[in-house]
Amino acid sequence: MSEEIFSHYDHKITCIDSGYIRPKMAAIYLVEHNEEVAIIETATNHSLSRVLTLLDKKNIAPSQVRYVIPTHVHLDHAGGAGSMMEIFPNAKLIVHPRGARHLVDPSRLMKGVIDVYGQEKYDKLYGELIAVSKDRIIEAEDEMELDLAGRTLLIRQTPGHAEHHICIWDEQSKGWFTGDTFGVSYQEMIGPMSRHIIPTTSPVQFAPEKLINSINLLMSYNPERLYLTHFGLLENPQYYAEKLCQHISSYCEIAQANRKASKPIEKIEDAIFRKESAQLNQILPDIDQPQVHELLDMDLNLNAQGLVVWLNRH
Ligand SMILES: [Zn+2]
Repeated sequence: MSEEIFSHYDHKITCIDSGYIRPKMAAIYLVEHNEEVAIIETATNHSLSRVLTLLDKKNIAPSQVRYVIPTHVHLDHAGGAGSMMEIFPNAKLIVHPRGARHLVDPSRLMKGVIDVYGQEKYDKLYGELIAVSKDRIIEAEDEMELDLAGRTLLIRQTPGHAEHHICIWDEQSKGWFTGDTFGVSYQEMIGPMSRHIIPTTSPVQFAPEKLINSINLLMSYNPERLYLTHFGLLENPQYYAEKLCQHISSYCEIAQANRKASKPIEKIEDAIFRKESAQLNQILPDIDQPQVHELLDMDLNLNAQGLVVWLNRH
């Protein structure tokens, strides 16, 4: 396993490339303090071996894992929660109150994804979800503080991408673990001067006003850095927060303009692809259309579907 699967940041934070779908698509973070560790995001069952490799390299025993904290119960974030809880005997699972029951009984989560993807693709991506016993779960109330051997991790509930979303504030590094609240900015979207970032409006709970409020809430802590699940460390968060909020508004305008279209998902997907493509080109002049398709088609299809669900709701 090559070393670049692990990126070591300051403040004893490591970014693990979970291996979900393609390199550097979804991260898992390890936070160490004194003799304890927290794991933020779980990716899928298939990612556990990478986490164990890192713990082994660092001489950390599975019994030292105190918290496992998926930001929300979409499966690229929480799909591996059950298998992690089996391996880490002293860990508590921290999850939004609205997500907890889905990890106690994951059958609904599994069925929902199998309905969309089919059994074969589901198995390849996620595998059987393992139930977590209720007494190992702490429901993440808003403003709850977790004590990691003296290091405080603060939970804030951040609806907008999903109702069951939380972000985690690390006072020591003045950084947020943002899950999907602060959008997606893959490593391939980093240009010489800045990077491109897009919101994630995937189905079925996208709510633009709530999402913008949540982004503003994160910024009210004056963060110095963000740890994106998709993907990695992002600096200068204030600059990107403004861009992201404008971006969310323009997505909604695009969706509304296609409200009466005969195939709204296709129309919206096409329009947001053109928008992202043009903006990416400004940041990365050499990027071509096939590369943009490869990079963003999956996200933009989900975004278009989520925008249509939002249109139909109001
Ligand atoms: Zn999500």
